[in-house]
Amino acid sequence: MEITNKLIYSYLDHLECGRCQREYDAGVPQGLCECGAPLLARYDLARVAAAVAPADFRDRPASLWRYHELLPVSKEESVVTFGEGMTPLLPMTEVGRQMGLPRLLMKDEGLLPTGSFKARGAAVGVSRARELGVRRIAMPTNGNAGAAWAVYAARAGIEALIAMPTDAPAITRAECAISGARLYLVDGLINDAGAMIAEAVRAQGYFDSSTLKEPYRLEGKKTMGLELFEQLGWRVPDVILYPTGGGVGLIGIHKALQECREMGWIGEKMPRLVSVQASGCAPIVRAWQNGDEVSQAWAEATTVAFGINVPKALGDFMILSALRATQGCAVAVDDEEILRAQARVGRLEGAFICPEGAACFAAAERLRQQGWIDEGEEVVVLNTGAGVKYPETVVVSVPTLSRGDTIPMP
Ligand SMILES: *Cc1c(COP(=O)(O)O)cnc(C)c1O
Ligand SMILES: [Zn+2]
Repeated sequence: MEITNKLIYSYLDHLECGRCQREYDAGVPQGLCECGAPLLARYDLARVAAAVAPADFRDRPASLWRYHELLPVSKEESVVTFGEGMTPLLPMTEVGRQMGLPRLLMKDEGLLPTGSFKARGAAVGVSRARELGVRRIAMPTNGNAGAAWAVYAARAGIEALIAMPTDAPAITRAECAISGARLYLVDGLINDAGAMIAEAVRAQGYFDSSTLKEPYRLEGKKTMGLELFEQLGWRVPDVILYPTGGGVGLIGIHKALQECREMGWIGEKMPRLVSVQASGCAPIVRAWQNGDEVSQAWAEATTVAFGINVPKALGDFMILSALRATQGCAVAVDDEEILRAQARVGRLEGAFICPEGAACFAAAERLRQQGWIDEGEEVVVLNTGAGVKYPETVVVSVPTLSRGDTIPMP
């Protein structure tokens, strides 16, 4: 009888603390390590490498589930999906030419379900939660994560409790409402909403799905890296710019790099990872400039790029260590530069990107001007969401015509 590894859907082995390396059972729902740090999913990579080769992925469906051996869901039947993943990697020819970056690419995460890359984390996090028997989840959010988790939870038959700041993008409220989540608006920042959720988790028996408080959202976001490497023919670019709030995407890309390198799927080269923040909320940039290993909470955080308005990230030490390990850096750009970059990318490329993604274009241009990026380097910007979710970022002034008027000459 032939027994093949190919029948195994996931090679998840155990969970490991990102700080103290203590190990945990991955077969039951888990939160943080006893030491308070996030847990990371660990796979049997030798067996993954024996079971699949990079070339095998090409013939699989164009969704993030094509990497299921490196994801935590143990059975295909457990997958909760809207067809997420395999977002386009687009040359940004004209913007790149003007910025002196002829090899500028954008991975457009705005095409994902719910219009942001939070769908990756929600698809994997919700699928695994349901597989482990979780019936009720709770989380604070700046909008996009709550929206994504609410819709995936509804599809999974899981109850969702979401708390978001009152000034989070209005559309994300509607997404929570239409999917039947219990939604609360909080007069404060995401950290204030987080404290309320932590209390509700204790008092009302929800599973805490906050950023990095459960291990599997990170695994979903890791697929952004896997897709990027596959789209480049299993190699890495020179620089990747990522708009950093809680930092899950950046930590996830770094984890994808480490796993692929260990399996020999990519060479030894590391892309330089760049953490981009808004100057109104830049705790990672400040810590990076001070050479610190953790960040300090940012007072009175504010920016139009709502998804990165995170005063203190639980995984800050992992973000900073990923920047160091890849010889990357951290850069802050102000809201004016963000909105200018957003308008420029729309005008030159027709792409309506989110302000968080726009921050990365502004940062790329700055780093090019400073010589930190060379002209010949291949640079990837992650546009983490669709601009259509942020209509208020565009000032529209158009003439109105009355019936019978003639459209004037331009
Ligand atoms: C959440 C979010 C981010 C930041 O993601 P983190 O993983 O928390 O760093 C960036 N852009 C958008 C559009 C987001 O919704
Ligand atoms: Zn620990």
